[in-house]
Amino acid sequence: TTSRNEKEKAVNVQVLLRCRPFNEDELRSNAPQVITCNEFQREVAVSQTIAGKSIDRVFTFDKVFGPSAKQKDLYEQAIVPIVNEVLEGFNCTIFAYGQTGTGKTYTMEGESRKAKNGQKGQLPSDAGVIPRAVKQIFDTLECQNTEYSVKVTFLELYNEEITDLLAPEELAKIVLEEKQKKTLPLMEDGKGGVLVRGLEEEIVTSADEIFSLLERGSSKRRTAETLLNKQSRLKLSSTSSLNLRIPILVSLMIFLRLSRSHSLFSITIHIKEATPEGEELIKCGKLNLVDLAGSENISRSGAREGRAREAGEINKSLLTLGRVITALVEHLGHIPYRDSKLTRLLRDSLGGRTKTCIIATVSPSVHCLEETLSTLDYAHRAK
Ligand code: ADP
Ligand code: MG
Repeated sequence: TTSRNEKEKAVNVQVLLRCRPFNEDELRSNAPQVITCNEFQREVAVSQTIAGKSIDRVFTFDKVFGPSAKQKDLYEQAIVPIVNEVLEGFNCTIFAYGQTGTGKTYTMEGESRKAKNGQKGQLPSDAGVIPRAVKQIFDTLECQNTEYSVKVTFLELYNEEITDLLAPEELAKIVLEEKQKKTLPLMEDGKGGVLVRGLEEEIVTSADEIFSLLERGSSKRRTAETLLNKQSRLKLSSTSSLNLRIPILVSLMIFLRLSRSHSLFSITIHIKEATPEGEELIKCGKLNLVDLAGSENISRSGAREGRAREAGEINKSLLTLGRVITALVEHLGHIPYRDSKLTRLLRDSLGGRTKTCIIATVSPSVHCLEETLSTLDYAHRAK
């Protein structure tokens, strides 16, 4: 029946909600908690009363992960089946969507990658979706008696320009020498997909290698963040030297860029299989892991009429992605893939027989309430 078909189709887009714990600053300022997660009911409740005006709303998602949920919990409950699909030869995409500072990068990449020097083959408990997916892929492939290859690419999309995060490049070059920055062109491959000309493709042979790749790829993004955090705690007197201020400026610029750019980590697997008739078959699956630009880039100005255009300029890809997902969920005839670089890049991995997972991230604090509500609304609409 139709309703059954609809149900089967709808399963292809999954929306999860993750609320991070309070951070040190929020704890110190005794920020009231306005978000309550009910993991069993898969519900998030928002309640707050300011000057007699009260907000009381409940949102339901496919899965809800509260502040105490660990990286491992999220991975095992939500991501394992998606990676299994990829190993079966399908393309899948996982997005992290939310306000800057709510845990998108923590969820996708995680922390303490340095722990790779610890026990070989063991993941640090803070490892995010990317290293866990790579481990699951190799653990599965190594058990099978088949030939396979695993390739990864890592790129950044900023202002509709593509930068290769795996290409050997200096941190400062990207920010300070805009003109010299190498951006890569996007081309149609003639088979309905697109390819990025000149993009570095790394062949990976074990899960352990992924850590150094991640490190290489996101060091320019991450170093700046750490720097910025440290610097902002320093009290700067008027006598502070220029030498100290330049790094602050640079890290502020990188921070802005970070919150406005998307990163896309793609893993492509080829598996050689023999059919019972003795023929050779190549199975190919791709997993895209996308750390999106901060959602404040669309909601803050986009919400007010007239300013939406300006917001569109800042983040065309984020806006178009929303439209593509809406079109897919509502089964509209026209899917506007072509309207942005991000959706063009992901065209062969969104819709149809692919699986899409959106992890919406929020803060529990009252200070983020407005942004949290717009993230919940956006994510809820994608269901
Ligand atoms: P975003 O990428 O969305 O801007 P981050 O991933 O950089 O945010 O997270 C901001 C800070 O909050 C980081 O210091 C990160 O370690 C911490 N954090 C985020 N989510 C969690 C979580 N679920 N558990 C513990 N710490 C978290
Ligand atoms: Mg981030």
